[in-house]
Amino acid sequence: MLELRPNCECCDKNLPPAATDALICTFCADCVEHVLKGVCPNCGGNFSARPIRPAAKLEKYPASTRRVLKAEGCGPRKAA
Ligand SMILES: [Zn+2]
Ligand SMILES: [Zn+2]
Repeated sequence: MLELRPNCECCDKNLPPAATDALICTFCADCVEHVLKGVCPNCGGNFSARPIRPAAKLEKYPASTRRVLKAEGCGPRKAA
């Protein structure tokens, strides 16, 4: 089961399980478009929309509460 992270690694925006602007691995659509330019800083690959996990599955496989945030920042915008 995919780890359902609670936040964007880049800007720490909350990304609840039902968020439709979450892309893995795990950033919000805004950062992907404007900061990361579509390239994942973790794996170098492209992003894919995070599947919405239905409530029934959330009971069995709860969303992670471990927030991951890139300490060094994730893009050129942060450095400026
Ligand atoms: Zn973000
Ligand atoms: Zn990745």
